[in-house]
Amino acid sequence: MPYLTAPSDLAQLFPSEEPYRAKQLYQWLYRKPTLNPAMMTDLPPEMREALTSNLWPFEVEVEQTADQGSTIKWLFRAPDGAAIEAVLMGYPERTTLCISSQVGCALACSFCATGQFGFERHLQAGEIVAQVAYAQAFLRDVGLSVGPDHVTNIVFMGMGEPLANYDRVREAIRRIVEEMEMSPRRLTVSTVGLVPGMLRLADEPWPVNLAVSLHAADDELRNSLVPINRRYPLADVEAAAANYFDRKGRRVSIEWTLIDNANDTIGQADKLAEIALRLGAHVNVIPLNATPLSSDQPSRKPHIRAFVRRLRSLDVNVTIRDTRGAEIDAACGQLRAGRASIS
Ligand code: SAH
Repeated sequence: MPYLTAPSDLAQLFPSEEPYRAKQLYQWLYRKPTLNPAMMTDLPPEMREALTSNLWPFEVEVEQTADQGSTIKWLFRAPDGAAIEAVLMGYPERTTLCISSQVGCALACSFCATGQFGFERHLQAGEIVAQVAYAQAFLRDVGLSVGPDHVTNIVFMGMGEPLANYDRVREAIRRIVEEMEMSPRRLTVSTVGLVPGMLRLADEPWPVNLAVSLHAADDELRNSLVPINRRYPLADVEAAAANYFDRKGRRVSIEWTLIDNANDTIGQADKLAEIALRLGAHVNVIPLNATPLSSDQPSRKPHIRAFVRRLRSLDVNVTIRDTRGAEIDAACGQLRAGRASIS
């Protein structure tokens, strides 16, 4: 499974081949991925044959499309049974891939399906990169109904907390930027607010975007929605976000999942506005997507409108995230490991 081998060690996989074969394979893996190893016509037949069965470090167990063919969700199954989900979304100007960094998640945010099902294991760097390569290959060989024919944006907003799997996520980012040659400015790491990871990321060489899942603008409310807030309270998360902006010159964004009767009040909007203005942050409002183990409901439309209007009246930059893939459980917070084996 060549994506599980460091790009510089590919020659070790084919010890009887000439060294230049590893360079050719590298091109196929990182520069022009394809779903079909038979397309790798410059490789000898034995190598193509071997790759037919083990090119990807997972099988494609489910492939579902939605939104008139502009959204696709994959459930990949690793040999050890781990389920990895990724979602590809085509828009006229961009094609965004949402990838997973862990199987499950340990952080137990009350409204998130991944958190409701607990933590299974970290993903390896190669398993993270292979999600990107698979989507590139799909776009090249098959394509979506809308959008550019290659991945233009990547968000670490699938299953897992990327900064809880720091070293492997770091190596995945390195490979995506340095081997696949994608712009770090088009990569977004989304975090629940793991302060040590936020500080480390600020010291990395790549200007990736940082999104902070805030959801509440005071510690009492945030403790109940995002339990890790007890360890890394709001003031520390805000300071780490400010540090990121200072070090990287990249505007941080704040994510806010709007939950009926929880965090959709004008009082929260006012406190959020203070934080957002101090950070110069953009706010991304996400109407809650329903999840199986929580009775939480999305905010009602008039409340969403009033919340957003209030932020705008205070000069906060805010967008409402569109909800792609809700009917195939591919929307934010709906991904969860092992769905296929459970149902
Ligand atoms: N662990 C990271 C990344 C994964 S979640 C993080 O917390 O940021 C990606 C985004 O989806 C986060 O902002 C998360 O809070 C949000 N989200 C989780 N569950 C959701 C749900 N049920 N409806 C809408 N958004 C949700």
